Amino acid sequence: MDRILVAGAGYAGVFAAKELARHGIGVTVVNAKPYHQLTTWLHEAAGGRHPVDDYKIDLADLFYGLDVQVEVDEIHRVDWKQTRLVGRLGTYPYERAVIGLGSAPEYFSITGLYEHSLPLKSLESARVIRRHIETQVRRYAKDGNVSRLTVVIGGGGLTGIEFAGELAEWLPKIGRTYHVDQRQFVIVCVEAMPDILPMLPPNQRSLARRELERAGVQFKAGSAIVRVEDQAVYLASGETLCAGTIVWTGGVRATPVLQASGLTCDHKGRARVDGTLQSVDDDRLWIVGDCARLDRAGKPLPPTAQLATQMGRHAAINLMRVLNGEGQELFVPKIYGTLASLGHSRGVGDLAGVRTSGRLAGVFKELTKVRYLLQLGGMRMVNRKRRLRTLQV
Ligand code: NAD
Repeated sequence: MDRILVAGAGYAGVFAAKELARHGIGVTVVNAKPYHQLTTWLHEAAGGRHPVDDYKIDLADLFYGLDVQVEVDEIHRVDWKQTRLVGRLGTYPYERAVIGLGSAPEYFSITGLYEHSLPLKSLESARVIRRHIETQVRRYAKDGNVSRLTVVIGGGGLTGIEFAGELAEWLPKIGRTYHVDQRQFVIVCVEAMPDILPMLPPNQRSLARRELERAGVQFKAGSAIVRVEDQAVYLASGETLCAGTIVWTGGVRATPVLQASGLTCDHKGRARVDGTLQSVDDDRLWIVGDCARLDRAGKPLPPTAQLATQMGRHAAINLMRVLNGEGQELFVPKIYGTLASLGHSRGVGDLAGVRTSGRLAGVFKELTKVRYLLQLGGMRMVNRKRRLRTLQV
C-alpha cells in the first residue's frame, strides 16, 4: 500500500499522521518547516514569556519511533486531478491525502494593513514582533520619541486579548532593562465590534476588560481600523493612533492554497467537506482544521486548535475505514470550552460549560497546556516542555 500523504504539520496534520502511523500505516508529512509550532501559545512567544524557540517541537522528535517520513517543503497547490501535491521544491504523488495547511491572516483589503502591521500567526512572526518592540524601546532610549512605546493591537478576539495580557506584563520588564519609565508604555486594543471577545458572554467580557484595564491596557471598541500607515492607525471614528508597533490579530482565512487548487471554497477560502471530512470535490482527499468548511447548527465550525486535533484524528480513522472497505463515520465535534489567558496567571472563559475567571481560569489554562502535550507525546513531551509551564501544576 502507498504511503498516505499528510499536508501540514499543524494541530490537524500532526494528529492525523500520528493516528495513521499508530495503526501501522506509513505516512509522509510535507510541512513548510521542520517543526510543529505551538500556535495556541504564540501570544506568549511574542509577548516575551519564554524564548521563542521553546514554542516549537522538531517533527523528527514528534514522530520518533513511528513510520512517518518528513519532507520540508512549502505546498503551493493540491493538484487533485493528477493526485499530487505541488511544492516549491518538488511534487508529491499520493493515492489518498489529508490536507491540513492551516490559515493565514485576514486583512479585509484594509489599505496599508498588510504593509504596516505585524501579524501574530507563526513562530517567525512572533519573533519579529518581539524584536520590533525591543528595538523601539532601544530607539526611544536614544531619540526620546515617545510614540515608539505605543503598541496598537488590531482585533479584540482571543488572539488580541491574550497578547494584550502578555504585553502588559512584559513591557514593564523591558522598561527596567532599558531604563524606561513603565508609565510611558501604552497598549491600545482596537475592536470593530461593540465589545471585545464577542464569543464570550457579556459578564465575562467585562471581567476580561476590567482585568486588562487594571494592568494598563486601553480599549477602543466599536471602532474599526480602516487604514494603516507607517506608525499610524486610522479608525472609522475619525481618530488616529500613532504607534511604534502595530500588531494585527483581526482574524484569519484559510490558506490560499485551497482556492489556488480549484477546490470548492467558501468566502473565507475554506474548502467544503461533507460530514465525514471528505472533500466535496474528490473522495481521495480529506480536509481538516482551519482548511475545512463544515457547518453545525447552521454555522461554520470555528478555526480552533481543539477542533483541528479532533478533525485530524477523525479524518485518519475514516481514511483507514475506507482502506478496510468499511463505511465512514460522521464527524461529531466536541467543544470543551473557550479559555483566554489574561497574563501569566489569570484568565477568563468556560471549561465544559462551567464559567471561570481570575486565578482559577489561569490554572485551567495551564492544565490545557499539559493536556495538549500529553496528547502529543505523553509524559516525554510534558517533561521536554517543562519550561513552558508557568504554574508547575
Ligand atoms: P477572531 O476572528 O476570533 O477575532 C478577531 C477580532 O478582530 C474580532 O473580534 C473582529 O471583530 C476584530 N476585527 C476585525 N476587523 C477589525 C478591524 N478592521 N478593526 C478592529 N477590529 C477588527 O480572530 P483570532 O482572535 O485571531 O482567532 C482566530 C481563531 O482562533 C478563532 O476561532 C479563535 O477562537 C481561535 N483562537 C482561540 C484561542 C483560545 O482558545 N484561547 C486563542 C487564539 C485564537
